[in-house]
Amino acid sequence: MEIILNIVYLISSIFFIFGIKKLSSPKTARQGNLYAAIGMLLAIIATLLDKQVITYEYIILGLIIGATIGTLMAVKVQMTGMPQMVGLLNGFGGGASALVATSEFYKVFNNPALSFELSVIISIVLSVLIGGVTFTGSLIAFGKLQGLVTGKVVKYTGQNAINVLLLLAVVVGGVLVVLDPSKQMILLGILSISLILGVLLVLPIGGADMPVAISLLNSYSGLAASMTGFVLQNNMLIIAGALVGASGIILTLIMTKAMNRSLMNVLLGGWDSAGSVSGAGSSEIKGDVKSVDAEEAAMIFDAAQSVIIVPGYGMAVAQAQHAVRDLMNILESKGINVRFAIHHVAGRMPGHMNVLLAEAQVEYDKLYALEDINDDFSNTDVVLVVGANDVVNPAARSDKNSPIYGMPILNVDYAKTVIVNKRSLNVGYAGISNELFFKPNTLMYFGDAKEAISKLVNEIKEL
Ligand code: NDP
Repeated sequence: MEIILNIVYLISSIFFIFGIKKLSSPKTARQGNLYAAIGMLLAIIATLLDKQVITYEYIILGLIIGATIGTLMAVKVQMTGMPQMVGLLNGFGGGASALVATSEFYKVFNNPALSFELSVIISIVLSVLIGGVTFTGSLIAFGKLQGLVTGKVVKYTGQNAINVLLLLAVVVGGVLVVLDPSKQMILLGILSISLILGVLLVLPIGGADMPVAISLLNSYSGLAASMTGFVLQNNMLIIAGALVGASGIILTLIMTKAMNRSLMNVLLGGWDSAGSVSGAGSSEIKGDVKSVDAEEAAMIFDAAQSVIIVPGYGMAVAQAQHAVRDLMNILESKGINVRFAIHHVAGRMPGHMNVLLAEAQVEYDKLYALEDINDDFSNTDVVLVVGANDVVNPAARSDKNSPIYGMPILNVDYAKTVIVNKRSLNVGYAGISNELFFKPNTLMYFGDAKEAISKLVNEIKEL
């Protein structure tokens, strides 16, 4: 039975690895998700058949409650609410790891016939620490994105010193428990401090930086699962946890790189303005803003041969992806070349724009990453920016004092004409003004993206 179990676990791991591989391209992502789900199903069935499972009542009860809540959440969640849902699920993963490790501790602790192996007790301490931090940290991240906890950067005197002291206390406590596992109160102390640390570490991070924090917490939840795998001596959990841990940290680094931020800058609450979008205007930049209505914009498109559409967070909020697809179709029917330029951090989560456009049946080969399209803007007739702001802000290239200085941006201002659709001149996520709106080749097309783009499509149809 043991051998069969491990073979099934091995097969599950292979499914996970191929699943992740396939997730790396939008074309195969759905298949990748299916592979990973099959891997998980196999692993769950194999685990349920393990001889260590004595009764099924509680497991079935938990399965029914968990599956019902999970299904309802997944069906109900809006696309824009996805980061906080992922955050919450990471938290549950971390919490589960900490609980399993704690119960394993007490299983050995309460049974004089059993004794702690060194590797197991070390894994228990690490699992409790990482799982505890992930649990409360993710709850705070969820709260910030859901508006239940302040989205502002929270700073207070002695903040870093307190965190370092708490971490030191955990290290010292960890060493004591490893040396003498009979000190059960110390393990509970480590659990409590870890839960507090999770709150203190995530609280300083600005609300809009949360997706980066969530990606990091995702990585932590994987590490915690892996540690629990060592505690239970379960190869499946070790492999799956390591995959989540590694992919989470890679994603975190990709995000921080695309924002030209260091991980430390995000973690220490670097951007005070992040997330405080409302209220701030573009008062520092003076100049004329030229605006167009749907009819004028339609005529400009009608005369173009090449168009690049740059979607951003506003397209997601307005759910304008279907209107954007209609625009693409009508322009193409007129023989105009239409492509999409996708910035790595457009929107509020990795791949946000790709997912929305895929949902609207825009073919993948029309989507170009920044590095593949940036040189083409200068020979493009019209660029349409739909609800993007920071990712097209030229200050990133020229203004050394700008918080986004150095962040790679889409060079839309190099095109012959830029039409920017958003509701006002208001700032985006980074909370800074955008000189693009004042450039001589820029035309503002004000309005909610869904309404405005649909109107534009109708006007083009009438030409
Ligand atoms: P921004 O947040 O810079 O700007 C979005 C713009 O959309 C706003 O200025 C807003 O202007 C406009 N908008 C809002 N609602 C609507 C609507 N209904 N119709 C039309 N426009 C609307 O978005 P970007 O995509 O350019 O940049 C993403 C930012 O998020 C970057 O700074 C990035 O670093 C950050 N980020 C991204 C993450 C990711 O993984 N993708 C993770 C964390 C942060 P107005 O109010 O005038 O309409």
